[in-house]
Amino acid sequence: MNQTRIPILDLKPQYESIKDEIHIAVNNVLESGQFIMGPDVKLFEQEVSNYLGVKHAIAVNSGTDALVIGLRALGIGLGDEVITTPFSFFATAESISNVGAKPIFVDIDPQTFNINPELIEASITPQTKAIMPVHLYGNPAAMAKILAIASKHNLKIIEDCAQSFGAKYCSTCCQNDCPEEIRSAISAKHTGTIGNVGAYSFFPSKNLGAYGDGGLIVTNNDQTAEIARMLRVHGAKKKYHNELLGYNSRLDTIQAAILRVKLKHIDSWNQKRRKVAQLYNQLLIDTQEIITPTLAGGHVFHQYTIRVLDGKRDQLKQHLADQSISSMIYYPTPQDKLPVYQGQYPDYPVSNKLGSEVLSLPIWPELRTDTIKYIVEQIKHYYING
Ligand SMILES: *Cc1c(COP(=O)(O)O)cnc(C)c1O
Repeated sequence: MNQTRIPILDLKPQYESIKDEIHIAVNNVLESGQFIMGPDVKLFEQEVSNYLGVKHAIAVNSGTDALVIGLRALGIGLGDEVITTPFSFFATAESISNVGAKPIFVDIDPQTFNINPELIEASITPQTKAIMPVHLYGNPAAMAKILAIASKHNLKIIEDCAQSFGAKYCSTCCQNDCPEEIRSAISAKHTGTIGNVGAYSFFPSKNLGAYGDGGLIVTNNDQTAEIARMLRVHGAKKKYHNELLGYNSRLDTIQAAILRVKLKHIDSWNQKRRKVAQLYNQLLIDTQEIITPTLAGGHVFHQYTIRVLDGKRDQLKQHLADQSISSMIYYPTPQDKLPVYQGQYPDYPVSNKLGSEVLSLPIWPELRTDTIKYIVEQIKHYYING
């Protein structure tokens, strides 16, 4: 079969499907000349806060900035400890370190790849100020348990939602395992609106991606929102009256205009991602050497990530590459093992083990059924012939 290369992510089909709307939106901004804090920024903030069901939405320059500003708006800084997962992109821990606090890593749950709530309490010290769960790959972390711990120990929660735009978590009835049809009828909440602050990224590859960098802070707290708004523009409420050491971290008007177009489609795109994941799971069901991800109701599959057992991950990845199929390892090195933190942390056995097993396969909303079947066929060939 003479297959063209299958990328890990193809943004083109989505762009093609909304091209006309995007061009009109971008043109309007160009004509208006209001490139910084133009009307689309405010409108996007209103629309996205409506969509998420949260009182305040503050658009910023990146997901990383959303985490940093979110932490500072919660009053977290020098000498504080923030509990988080070792198994994430470095921006998670980096944001904590950059505000002067110390990331305290807690090992993960092998089923969900997310922070294991049963291990959190043992890591709480008098310095602990907050918990930063990450909804990794688009799968909501165990928020009910995390909320209970935070409330018992008087800790803040800041959710890293960079990979989970559109994901909903249901804490009341079913611990997130019931079918989506049932969930929508009950009080499931969007990730980011459960803790004190949620931080989103609009990096182009994220589920809701801009055509450049972008991020968002959400909160239901008026004071937190006010500080975040100040920190976004050099710590000033009033121009030339700077009260805090802030940042220059605004979302470009052009990106806001693009995100307004894309926000209207996000549920249908996430639904399609779930369909892709469902088909992969079905087709891989009898492949014993692979563990497929759970299809929990709230999962929006930013990544479709399998566990490859028996030390075969790198070989399988190479086999797929030989068949022109891209796959990725998110993340090859857990945060605690990165050179920047060398020698500072003990071992987190589950995180280490999963780091050597995970393999993310191609996923995007428009990924075709025949392509998925081809990818799975090639995985099966590896096990038959290898
Ligand atoms: C992408 C990402 C970020 C950072 O977002 P940027 O917009 O790239 O700054 C933070 N945390 C996680 C888990 C991410 O995947």
